[in-house]
Amino acid sequence: MGGRRMNSYPEIGTSRDIPAEMISVDEALEYLLAKARPVTETEWAGLEAAQGRVLARAECSEIDVPGYDNSAMDGFAVRSADCRAAGPVALSVRQRIAAGELGVLLEAGSAARIFTGAALPPGADAVVMQEDCRVEGEKVFLKGPIASGHNVRPRGNNIAANAEVLPAGVRIRALEMGMAAAVGRQGLTVFRRLRVAIFSSGNELVEPGEPLTEGKIFNSNRYSLLGLLRGLGCEVEDRGIVKDDAASTESLLVEAAAKADVVVGSGGMSVGEEDHVRRALKNVGEVQMWRVAVKPGKPIAYGRIGECDFFGLPGNPVSTVLSFLLFVRPFLLRRQGLSNVLPTLFPVVAGFAWPTPGRRREFVRARLERARDGKLRARIHPKQGSDVLASTVWADGLVQIPEHGTVAEGDEVAYLSFSELD
Ligand code: AMP
Ligand code: MG
Repeated sequence: MGGRRMNSYPEIGTSRDIPAEMISVDEALEYLLAKARPVTETEWAGLEAAQGRVLARAECSEIDVPGYDNSAMDGFAVRSADCRAAGPVALSVRQRIAAGELGVLLEAGSAARIFTGAALPPGADAVVMQEDCRVEGEKVFLKGPIASGHNVRPRGNNIAANAEVLPAGVRIRALEMGMAAAVGRQGLTVFRRLRVAIFSSGNELVEPGEPLTEGKIFNSNRYSLLGLLRGLGCEVEDRGIVKDDAASTESLLVEAAAKADVVVGSGGMSVGEEDHVRRALKNVGEVQMWRVAVKPGKPIAYGRIGECDFFGLPGNPVSTVLSFLLFVRPFLLRRQGLSNVLPTLFPVVAGFAWPTPGRRREFVRARLERARDGKLRARIHPKQGSDVLASTVWADGLVQIPEHGTVAEGDEVAYLSFSELD
């Protein structure tokens, strides 16, 4: 996306005038990150299996990579001392060195045919690319002067011995796997996976594949949460659907918490008499945070059941997903041992107006388009209801509307790309 980066969402906007019964997005994040105790147990994972895991210890290289001076080009290895004069130089070609082969001492007045990645023969200190050479029989003609080191990749150019190649606390992506392999690692020491249990609360829920009778609705949050958690590298235990009654909810919480590091449930978090989750949490554990001034997603709760963390997310499908991305995701990342847990927002131009200020910080489903002036403009989905999942698959990110903020078309707004939330 390029251009100027904006602060992550905790620093953006204002926490002024948050209604007394709610805490601000910033306060909630600060609180949750302080509560997220990083796992300490580590294990060794083969390099392929390490993908997606969090590195527990910094990795240093024991070797120089490459371990020898080598050619950056297909061409001819020379002694620069032979090519000092400005003008034509003729050298005799006495050896040919492909990548992986070793040459012999390059005598004065000679050149070696050489290919990219091949070690320079002793005596050579420069390479002339083949496009700048003319070959006639055993002779190569080129033009001086050639500086020492020209087209040579010196030993250790990529990675120097003893250099730290991967810091602790990073997630292993393809790039980190390549780096680890480059210094000869077959595997890495990573933090153990987090065990996360999920459940869906609601008498109206049926699973895809079951008959959808009158008044019922398919359980979509289960799959949203499964996907999100697997994407973060968690081991997920699905506890299914829990009925809207106090006893089932309490026993589910106790059982799930006995085995998991974190339990995440959706639905049943509001204040109606059919909402049992928060009350159940109170009875079997402790509610530590409740209600954030965010839209969608206000009735989010955090607490503990013994040593287990608990998140209760609002049941509306958009609220479930967004409250997960905004609050549970950074918490779980920190809990996994990651250092960088907050996404970056970027400034874009509003291709919409938001005339009515709200008391809560709002995250609006949006799409970016390139305007005629080359700037990125955010369009927003016309239906921003927290039940409208269509807005989430249409969107490629979120525009943040600050508390009490309005937006006029053409204003700069903060944009949070879904790609920042992988
Ligand atoms: P609740 O948070 O339980 O009050 O639910 C709010 C809204 O979200 C209701 O319309 C529910 O039917 C809906 N809902 C709750 N859980 C789910 C779920 N797992 N999948 C789809 N919709 C849900
Ligand atoms: Mg419900």
